[in-house]
Amino acid sequence: MIDIEKNLQEVQAQIASQCQKSRRDPEEVTLLAVSKKKTIEDISTAHQAGQIDFGENYLQEAEQKINKLQYLPIRWHYIGPIQSNKAHRISELFDWVHSVDRYKVAQRLSRFRPADKPPLNVLLQVNIDDEPSKAGIGLADINELADKIAILPRLNLRGLMAIPAIRTDFEKQREPFKKLADALSCLQLKHPYCDTLSMGMSADMNAAIAEGATLVRIGTAIFGARI
Ligand SMILES: *Cc1c(COP(=O)(O)O)cnc(C)c1O
Repeated sequence: MIDIEKNLQEVQAQIASQCQKSRRDPEEVTLLAVSKKKTIEDISTAHQAGQIDFGENYLQEAEQKINKLQYLPIRWHYIGPIQSNKAHRISELFDWVHSVDRYKVAQRLSRFRPADKPPLNVLLQVNIDDEPSKAGIGLADINELADKIAILPRLNLRGLMAIPAIRTDFEKQREPFKKLADALSCLQLKHPYCDTLSMGMSADMNAAIAEGATLVRIGTAIFGARI
């Protein structure tokens, strides 16, 4: 049996320990529990253990979970690929979207954001290792897209997100995270309210925290392997 409550405590302890090594305040690092392919029961268990932020990758699956759990004060983050015809529903359901990499999608997220909700928090997804198979914009394209998105009335541009290629060595893991952190510093010159670096998963969260992650996206280490 997977003990979600114990796993959450261990992940929080790992965050605290890496923050201490990196001389950072653990309060600066938000834990996002990635619940894709996990059940509504798993999510409620984690919520009962104090977890507030949850990440989902697939709209259909997420919609059912969000509807069933709407009585809980959960913050929902969309972290999967976005087809532009799904942007409408995503904008109605979620509090954050981490995977914006096209202006057309951003326009639709803004246009369809319900009037009774606060502006949608968005991050630009960066293809930090230039992998042909991965979504995201290049480092060189961040400023142009950010300038256009920052003007959209119903979005709050909050920062950057990346999913680097898999590396096992800690020092090697740090390299793409450092690049993303430098890109955020650069972006902040023009967009100072950008405060979020969404980087680090179960296998590389320590390296991400060492390089300044403000939000780590953790699935396996909390909920166990996905089948
Ligand atoms: C699945 C997923 C995660 C979580 O990965 P784990 O290795 O299970 O921690 C994080 N970010 C994104 C974008 C994902 O799709």
